[in-house]
Amino acid sequence: MRARDATCRFPGCLRAAHHCEVDHTIDWQWDGPTNADNLACLCRRHHVMKHQSDWRVKQIGDAVLRWVSPTGATYKTLPHAAAGRGPIPDEAPF
Ligand SMILES: [Zn+2]
Repeated sequence: MRARDATCRFPGCLRAAHHCEVDHTIDWQWDGPTNADNLACLCRRHHVMKHQSDWRVKQIGDAVLRWVSPTGATYKTLPHAAAGRGPIPDEAPF
């Protein structure tokens, strides 16, 4: 999962996957399966946000996540390499 995602999968977050937690998109407690179609890397901050705010996320195939913000804005995120991004930056200096 970390190799696929490379970074946190929240829109705009570049936290390296090796610092992330693996999230069940459909919660395990609601019978969300433990497989690649239902797992994604989220940094601690965005993992907590996913569970404790009105952000919603769904996996729509090919490892694409569709996020809906509390205001209804939608964002799609792809694994880092699939998004055509370059090398993962070093950790933020703060
Ligand atoms: Zn993040």
